[in-house]
Amino acid sequence: MGKKILVTGGAGFVGSHLCERLLNEGNEVVCLDNYFTGQKRNIVHLLDHPYFELVRHDVTMPFYIEVDEIYNLACPASPIHYQYNPIKTVKTSVMGAVNMLGLAKRIRARILQASTSEVYGDPKVHPQTEDYWGHVNPIGERACYDEGKRAAETLFVNYHRQNKVRIKIARIFNTYGPRMHPNDGRVVSNFIVQALQGEDITIYGEGQQTRSFCYVDDLVEGLIRLMNSRDEFTGPVNLGNPAEFTILQLAQRIISLTGSSSSLVYRPLPSDDPMQRQPDISLAKRELGWQPSIPLEEGLRKTIDYFRDTL
Ligand code: NAD
Ligand code: UDP
Repeated sequence: MGKKILVTGGAGFVGSHLCERLLNEGNEVVCLDNYFTGQKRNIVHLLDHPYFELVRHDVTMPFYIEVDEIYNLACPASPIHYQYNPIKTVKTSVMGAVNMLGLAKRIRARILQASTSEVYGDPKVHPQTEDYWGHVNPIGERACYDEGKRAAETLFVNYHRQNKVRIKIARIFNTYGPRMHPNDGRVVSNFIVQALQGEDITIYGEGQQTRSFCYVDDLVEGLIRLMNSRDEFTGPVNLGNPAEFTILQLAQRIISLTGSSSSLVYRPLPSDDPMQRQPDISLAKRELGWQPSIPLEEGLRKTIDYFRDTL
């Protein structure tokens, strides 16, 4: 018999893939979401599954359930969404962590936190290793997300030290794939939607900033391996694809894969936008035997196919 697993933020982009994979492996899955950025459409194909349960709930409120494992993903992830109501974003990260850690402590469940490369801010160390403390503006426009996630990491390690809660912290780098919200403003979905609709492709700044893009199936594999790793290994551990591209290169790749006639237009760079980002994944390789296997071009093709079918 499989495990009983709670996935908060399960109706979101990453969460829906995780729920699907956990069900396919024979587990019972409870998906909790308030639908702020998630959509029922992401998990509608799972609703008839006898071991899938959907709960509309906000993680800032306590929640009681008996499960073996908790994946805590609930939090808007795209800059336009997390900046829409920044106070709520901090509450979701911090109060969500307190509520889910309290639950994990009471029911002795393992709990995994979806943290982020944003804890490194605009990094001065490249590529980023887990022992780098980061370069974050605490009062900037990204702070509600970055500092919220940093505070959540602090809560996780202290529940572990003080209460022996079995924790896992994943620092997730830019991830993309089918079921990204078409309007969530993240770069891969923006560029694909613009390319498919023949609209201008919006490059912020000069497009020389870099990101490293991980396909969602690779990330889900990493999250599950981390959850199943030995108790003593708590992380934080970077999960991402080390292949680094400039935003301009990404735009050119998407134009060529879609055969689009869109042109590039340049818009101001948002404040505190990190200039470069690339994970050092030595720790994940060593501890989890994990590394991404899907190259950018293959992942982009799958994502483009999804948007072609759903737009
Ligand atoms: P997403 O916005 O698609 O998913 C987040 C989900 O959380 C949504 O379904 C949303 O409705 C739900 N949610 C938000 N606030 C909530 C609340 N208060 N109560 C209950 N549910 C709530 O984003 P995603 O890309 O799937 O990200 C999932 C997690 O992974 C997030 O915690 C994010 O910070 C983290 N992460 C993602 C990336 C990435 O590139 N996708 C990178 C780093 C970290
Ligand atoms: N970006 C861009 N055009 C867009 C959307 C984003 O040039 O239409 C840039 C953005 O400024 C950032 C990078 O792409 O430098 C990644 O942005 P995203 O919001 O996807 O993620 P994050 O900045 O959180 O890594």
